[in-house]
Amino acid sequence: MEKFNLIENVNRLFDKAAKNLGLDEETQQLLKTPFREVKVQVPIRRDDGSLKLYMGYRVQHNSARGPYKGGIRYHPDVDLDEVRGLASLMTWKTSLADIPFGGGKGGVNCNPKELSLTELERITRTFTSRISIIIGPYLDIPAPDVYTNPQIMAWIMDEYSKQHGFSPAVVTGKPLALGGAAGRDEATGFGTAIVAREACKDFGIHMEGAKVAIQGFGNAGTHAARILTSYGAKIIAVSNSKGGIYSFKGLEVGKLIPYAAKNKILKGFQKSDAITNDELLKIQCDILIPAALENVLTKDNASKVRAKMIVEAANAPTSDMGDAILEDKGIIVVPDILANSGGVIGSYFEWAQNIQQMSWNVKLYREKLEEYMTRNYRAVYELSKEKKVTLRTAAYMIAIKRVVEAGKLRGT
Ligand code: NAD
Repeated sequence: MEKFNLIENVNRLFDKAAKNLGLDEETQQLLKTPFREVKVQVPIRRDDGSLKLYMGYRVQHNSARGPYKGGIRYHPDVDLDEVRGLASLMTWKTSLADIPFGGGKGGVNCNPKELSLTELERITRTFTSRISIIIGPYLDIPAPDVYTNPQIMAWIMDEYSKQHGFSPAVVTGKPLALGGAAGRDEATGFGTAIVAREACKDFGIHMEGAKVAIQGFGNAGTHAARILTSYGAKIIAVSNSKGGIYSFKGLEVGKLIPYAAKNKILKGFQKSDAITNDELLKIQCDILIPAALENVLTKDNASKVRAKMIVEAANAPTSDMGDAILEDKGIIVVPDILANSGGVIGSYFEWAQNIQQMSWNVKLYREKLEEYMTRNYRAVYELSKEKKVTLRTAAYMIAIKRVVEAGKLRGT
């Protein structure tokens, strides 16, 4: 098994782009090191009265272009290196998206599947109060990530507001009733579908009838499936942590989404057969969308991928060694910092509405998301053609250049 360290992996991708930019060594060091790392104890009483101790993290990577921005993940595997890597990805993502934020990330090493709603609330409130001195609407703005959701964002907002007054802009991905934005929930998957559509045009794949496989059927995966279906694509395989299903004729996504939400297990869905997560990654298809966790396409399996194109809805689903193999095989990879940036762009729209105390309708939200995603994809594609580099290296080059410029102007 390839050893995977997220921050080292992101920094190797950074190095490649920095070399292409001719960035000096001092600036490289500065940009690879997080500004601040906070680790807090998160003790809670379980419903049975026993004490359970979790660890919580918030890493603030870079704020040259604006307040730190990035999700909070609840997962048993969360650790400092993972949060560091995700925080640095956020710096490059917000910069590439050209929105006025820097990069941060947080997490608690708990397993929400084993927790009651009240236990989850206690974890969230304790974690929030312990990081509340370093977050704020103009300081650091969390959002949902794996296994966190609008309800958790509502608790974060409430806990922070107890000390600072009503502050919806401290967190994004909130419920609509608390200043959430119509459209935010679907933004990540919507953005992934838009860049997939644009990349299909450039790389000779017909969207109509394109065969798509999706690993991970949560927020990012379900919305990507729904919107790609509306573009004419055929979703032939999906999976979640319990396994997957496929049908070469195409799965009926409109029925599958409520089925998955209700049953949790996908196996047994109408007119489909079971498939393992491993098999799904190797299925013959036009577009493969990893939309679960990091490090799923590695040196161990990248040579067996049979997709024409990979669109990374998940953060860091491809290790750098896996990436090199995919490049050799001529498989197009639309990188995470572009392909899942719809989420943070949508968060920016929500934050901006909160700051202005007004709200857009969903039509405007979607139009703006479409505009940003298309613009950003085009910039990456054009640079990759001009410099003869991969889409990933081009994306990093654009992102790094902007952060360097902002940092220099501010005098860091
Ligand atoms: P989610 O919790 O809504 O869904 C995660 C899905 O992945 C679930 O279906 C889960 O069962 C599945 N999964 C977990 N382990 C798996 C495994 N080993 N194999 C297959 N499936 C597995 O999370 P999400 O918000 O959709 O996030 C998914 C990815 O997208 C993450 O990498 C996240 O960082 C990234 N992302 C999410 C957002 C967002 O706005 N939600 C934004 C940007 C990036």
